This record gives sequence, C-alpha cells and structure tokens, in this order.
Amino acid sequence: MKRVLYPGNFDPVTNGHMDIIERAARVFDEVIVAVGTNMGKSPLFTAEERIEMLEEACRHLPNVTVDSFHALTVRYAASRGASVILRGLRALSDFDFEFEMALMNRRLDSAIETVFMMPNADYSYLSSSIVKEVASFGGSIEGLVPKIVEEYLDRKFGRSSQ
Ligand code: ADP
Repeated sequence: MKRVLYPGNFDPVTNGHMDIIERAARVFDEVIVAVGTNMGKSPLFTAEERIEMLEEACRHLPNVTVDSFHALTVRYAASRGASVILRGLRALSDFDFEFEMALMNRRLDSAIETVFMMPNADYSYLSSSIVKEVASFGGSIEGLVPKIVEEYLDRKFGRSSQ
C-alpha cells in the first residue's frame, strides 16, 4: 500500500493542484492532501476554508483524503504512514526552492522520498497568488479553479457570480 502526502498552502486550491492530485490518485493507492498551517505566509482563506474547498473539489476521488497539519512535513508524513512526499513542478522557477526543500526533508528523514509531478502545460503558469490577484480585481477565473473555489472567491471579494 503506497500512501503519498501532498502538502501545500492551497490558498486556494487551483486546477493546477487538482491536475497533480488526479495524477497522484492514479499512481498511488492513497493520497493525503494536507494544508500546512505553519508556512509563514499570511493566507487569504482560513485553514478550515481551504480544507472545505479541497474536500469538495476532491469528492470524486475515493482514494484522496484532506487534512491539515502544523508540524515538520516529514514528521507529519511519518505520523500518517506516508513514505512519499509529492510536490508539483510548474517551471524552472519552482526548481530552486523545491530542490532545497527536498534535500532538507531528506536530511531530516532519509526514509521519506520526495517525488515531483508536472501538470498539464495549460496549468504551468497558474498559481494561487495570480488567481487571488485576478479575482480581487473582478477578472474571470473560470476554468482555472474548481467551481467551489470560484464561489468562495466571489464571496470573499463581495461579488455576485458572473
Ligand atoms: P507551497 O507554498 O507549499 O508551495 P502551494 O499551495 O502554492 O503551496 O503549492 C503546493 C504544491 O503544488 C507545490 O509543490 C507547488 O509547486 C505545486 N503547485 C502549485 N501550483 C501548481 C500548478 N499550477 N501546477 C502544478 N503544481 C502546482
């Protein structure tokens, strides 16, 4: 039984994240998508809201569960019986940070392997930050995020749906 942990901020989950989650659900027996609550950034959505959006977006994937954690990622992975950490790689710009993180995690726990997956090229420019920026100015984010996220963003920025 191969269980993989996909950690991140997911503030909010985008179709790029969903692409990675769906790929992982085909490759691994179980996928735990976990919202990190200690990652230094000040989020737009609370951990509870980010979890609600992920749960709704992953409802069609029976081997995916959603959780949150406030700890070292490797320690949380070990506590959940996950021997693999999954990260998404969009472009070269992700590489430095991900490389550093993967090597640090290996130093902290050599039993846990980090694997990377690349999304469909349609999503290689997509980030939670750009989605928030566009939504905050009333631009359309249709097709870039799950429907439930559109609704949460509309509510957050006080718009009725377009
Ligand atoms: P973090 O702050 O931990 O990077 P994110 O929620 O931004 O949290 O991203 C979680 C993971 O998903 C990271 O590995 C990131 O590179 C990846 N990711 C983010 N956006 C995309 C995307 N559009 N396509 C593929 N992977 C992505």
